[in-house]
Amino acid sequence: MTLRVTGDITSAEDRAVHDEGSGSSDDLRCRLCGGALQAETLLTIERAPQGAQAFLTSEQLSADGPITLDIRQCPDCGLVQACSPPVPNWQHVIRSRGYSPAMSELRRRQVRHFLENYPSGGRRVIEAGCGRGDLLEILRDCGATPFGLEASLAAVLAGRERGLSIEHGYPASGRAIHGGPFDAFVTSNVIEHAVDPRDFLRGLRQNLRSQAVGMVEVPSFERMLEQRRSFDFIADHLSYFTVDTLRLALEMAGFEVLEVSREWWVDDIVAFVRVRPLADWVGAQQELDAAVADIREFIDGHARDGRSVAVWGASHQALTLLALAQCEHVAYVIDSAPFKQGFFTPATHLPVVAPAHVALDPPAAILVMAAGYSDEVVHSLRDGMRYRGVIGVLRGNRVELVDGLEAGAT
Ligand SMILES: [Zn+2]
Repeated sequence: MTLRVTGDITSAEDRAVHDEGSGSSDDLRCRLCGGALQAETLLTIERAPQGAQAFLTSEQLSADGPITLDIRQCPDCGLVQACSPPVPNWQHVIRSRGYSPAMSELRRRQVRHFLENYPSGGRRVIEAGCGRGDLLEILRDCGATPFGLEASLAAVLAGRERGLSIEHGYPASGRAIHGGPFDAFVTSNVIEHAVDPRDFLRGLRQNLRSQAVGMVEVPSFERMLEQRRSFDFIADHLSYFTVDTLRLALEMAGFEVLEVSREWWVDDIVAFVRVRPLADWVGAQQELDAAVADIREFIDGHARDGRSVAVWGASHQALTLLALAQCEHVAYVIDSAPFKQGFFTPATHLPVVAPAHVALDPPAAILVMAAGYSDEVVHSLRDGMRYRGVIGVLRGNRVELVDGLEAGAT
């Protein structure tokens, strides 16, 4: 994968990170899963301010007016969301002031909990949407090596003046974050502003190491429901997450959720996550090659005196293995399912016959590839049909010989 590097602050203007779609053309599609939003609104607020940070100069007053906030839910994933276009500078993290002493202490406890309980094997932590870097300072105080990513140039410059390492940018799929890959990430009260929260999270994940962990915070929609606070809907927040929809968003972006709760802050949900490991198929090709080689050896080794070998089992596994083995000495495939009998196998074009065919045209050996039925098949061959030739059974990726007479004794 090729990752584009975020614009350097010396050449980039704020608008460089504003080139994403406004979302206005897809207003009725879910921001998270892409499903169709419910036709009815949950709530319509006719006279909402254009944004919580949209304070105006006297010259701007004549152009300003209220907007309509249209809140809908996605029936597929459950996410409650605003269908209105995002506010200007929706990527900027704007916090009116730094942490109070009491809040700083709580934050320190939370960051220590994160770093101590979810070790990632490294100390490099990226905060996406770091604003001026209040949380970066706490991360640094707690022993991490913090890096910030922030879309507001003014906030980037202010944070750098405090001696913090902050890049100007915004996470997106395929976009490299300078300084990555990182061992951990934090994002606090940011993804509810994102036009595409899944792309934000996916973009972060692509800049993490394979064992990386993360801490994600969003305002709790449960809290709004509990208090029936309809006036909490604001144009700045496009998504209203619950514990369930936050978990889903994180999982859809490639994370395992290790812990998610409202225990840290009553108004917010906090999730601790880890990059989801990919399925372990290391060695799978060699194991497949070994199975095919064993099958070939059994079939070629037991076909003799003009007599071929039969295979018992026309399952999809047996069909694949036969196609890979490409053996010339297979006479036919036995299968007890009548709907397969009388036809030919795909790819290898072998006739599929009923078990009674063994007595009519006894093969030099039989390879049983019938998974959980294999022992039953061997029993029926030996005791029911009195077959005395060599029998091999595919168990796992190996052909095992069943005790019996050598080929030719039938
Ligand atoms: Zn959805």
